[in-house]
Amino acid sequence: MLWAQVGERVRGQIGTNAFNSWMRPLRIAPLDGRRVVLLAPTGFMRDWIKTHYRQILLAEFRRDMPHIDDVVIEASLTADTPRRANSDTAAASSAAPAEQPAPAAARHAVAEARIADESASVVNTLDDKLTFDNFVVGKANELAYAAARRVAESDDVAFNPLFLYSGVGLGKTHLMQAIAWHIVSQRPDRKVMYLSAEKFMYHFIRAVRFKDTVAFKEQFRSVDVLMIDDLQFFSDKDSTQEEFFHTFNELVDRKHQVVISADRSPSDLDGMEERIRSRLGWGLVADIHPTDFELRVGILEQKAALNPHVEVPDDVIRFLAHRITSNVRELEGALKRIVAHHELMGRKISLELAQEVLTDLLRANARQITIDEIQKKVAEHFSIKVTEMSSSRRARAVARPRQVAMYLAKKLTTRSFPEIGRKFGNRDHTTVLHGVRRIEELIQDDPSLAEDVRLLEAALSN
Ligand code: ADP
Ligand code: MG
Repeated sequence: MLWAQVGERVRGQIGTNAFNSWMRPLRIAPLDGRRVVLLAPTGFMRDWIKTHYRQILLAEFRRDMPHIDDVVIEASLTADTPRRANSDTAAASSAAPAEQPAPAAARHAVAEARIADESASVVNTLDDKLTFDNFVVGKANELAYAAARRVAESDDVAFNPLFLYSGVGLGKTHLMQAIAWHIVSQRPDRKVMYLSAEKFMYHFIRAVRFKDTVAFKEQFRSVDVLMIDDLQFFSDKDSTQEEFFHTFNELVDRKHQVVISADRSPSDLDGMEERIRSRLGWGLVADIHPTDFELRVGILEQKAALNPHVEVPDDVIRFLAHRITSNVRELEGALKRIVAHHELMGRKISLELAQEVLTDLLRANARQITIDEIQKKVAEHFSIKVTEMSSSRRARAVARPRQVAMYLAKKLTTRSFPEIGRKFGNRDHTTVLHGVRRIEELIQDDPSLAEDVRLLEAALSN
């Protein structure tokens, strides 16, 4: 048997332990022309074998069959692929080209293959859109951006670790991958590893289960730049935390760059041990703030320009920048949705289209207006005391503003009639209903009141 002979020689080279762990479970598939296909029981093993043993296997097969030009390792159990992972990396294409020789042409392809090849089992595929070129800089992110560039460009270790943090969807993963791209394209001799904390954990746990933590440690400690995304997922995972901390310390001691992101600052990483938290803050801690209007416009313009076939009018860009304030991911999602409706349904890109297809996003981003705010604004507008909103006085001068406030409360909040009534001095829900109806009528008949209501509404939902 071919595989038996080859296997024996591989055992001679890698030792019986490694052979039993990694080679024995392999099955050989029927020969496929010039390729040998080996089936590993899991995706994890496939990746590991690809990284560590493919060259040895290829050489040994060739001794028997010189015409063989590739050894392909596949997982027989595809559900077990570790490539599920990070939803951030949209391009986590499972078609990492590690089986085929990397196409030398495109820079990205080279970089990707390089990363995939050297540490296939631990690295998320990078998304080639997440580069410095595609990152729009504004007040909110200029510090984080400058720090990321510095880490990507300098040979010495400027600050270690670089710790980036922000709320969700504000560009942490983008900056980290931009660093990775920059380094792999400018300094191909440096070994960069980018992965989410979840993946780190996953691989660590597998390594423990496979009793292969030595190789696991080796793999991480041999990198020049280690980037761990979303560190907050480590919380409460003792042994992983510990392992990460050792790796981290060793890399930092040897002056290898470490870059970390999380959704909060090191000191707020509860569930992390105190000594780890404090150590994480030794380098540079840079946070990314929520975007302002200008930055959102800049980002939308840049994203829109990426698609040369589609023109997004200015008013639509400004509308989105104005109304979708939560984070950049949602902003991008909104733009994509509009463009998709345009491309698939032939709809013209306009404010109407935006309003129509984004109702859910617009609602979710709408500022939550409270009844207290409404009462305060309305009282101010009509120059009455805010306490009159709940008083029992029925004089027109206070009753009308009170009804306006009820009307706005119904229109701008999700409160029910009884809830609104309670906020207005425990009035009955029918009183509220009556007040709201009255204002609806007056808006039709009384232009000056209609104008008051319009102004108030604009001020409240600005
Ligand atoms: P995080 O990792 O902080 O949750 P991401 O880096 O995944 O956020 O960013 C979410 C999306 O927003 C990505 O598609 C990213 O490209 C985009 N994005 C965030 N900030 C910027 C920016 N300043 N310029 C361009 N795109 C950005
Ligand atoms: Mg992220």
